[in-house]
Amino acid sequence: MTPILAPQPPVLAAIAGDAAHGFPVRRLFCIGRNYADHAREMGKDPTREPPFFFTKWAETVVPSGTAIAYPPETKSLHHEVELVVAIGREGFRVSVADAPSLVWGYAAGLDMTRRDLQQIAKDMARPWDASKNFAQSCPMGAITPAAKAGDIANAAITLEVNGTIRQKGRISDMIWSVAEVIAEVSKFYRLGAGDLIFTGTPAGVGAVASGDRLSARIEGLSPLDITVGPPSA
Ligand code: MN
Repeated sequence: MTPILAPQPPVLAAIAGDAAHGFPVRRLFCIGRNYADHAREMGKDPTREPPFFFTKWAETVVPSGTAIAYPPETKSLHHEVELVVAIGREGFRVSVADAPSLVWGYAAGLDMTRRDLQQIAKDMARPWDASKNFAQSCPMGAITPAAKAGDIANAAITLEVNGTIRQKGRISDMIWSVAEVIAEVSKFYRLGAGDLIFTGTPAGVGAVASGDRLSARIEGLSPLDITVGPPSA
């Protein structure tokens, strides 16, 4: 069969030091409440209950340098800076020990959130989709291959808004490590090349406004700089 409509081209994420190639994005898995200080600021007990996750579409990924449109139907667009793990090969129900072998690389990312819609969803026990999975909600810096990323497990992670630090932590603060998160997601889904895992955000999440400049940094990885543009037309 041939398609009756033009298929969407794959979303390609940038690769650090290789402008000629892109990482074809497949699916996004995002972990909730993986830093104790962020769990507390969201009013939750940061006990080590199994990590939970939600998903986003590949088309939510946009590169560093993007002016993201302020999304519709929200008055509270929040930033969440996160380490992104890019998966390079298939794995299903992998052990924590084997999980690192699935990793192709790492990037700095933002899990942008319509916080007011998320609160309504929580209050009404409804899905989070409208609060999380929307156009341009996952800005990402270029992906650095794992071998060139250095000691990511101990890297500092920060987010500045208009030059002021709003979020600051270390990857080692994560309740569930990168390997543990991969192993957990792979219990439920057969992970494959092109999948991305957003690994949760440290404390300090907050609202942004049109005109704000966001700068996400993770030691050893490519920078992520975006601006918040005017509302979607
Ligand atoms: Mn998040």
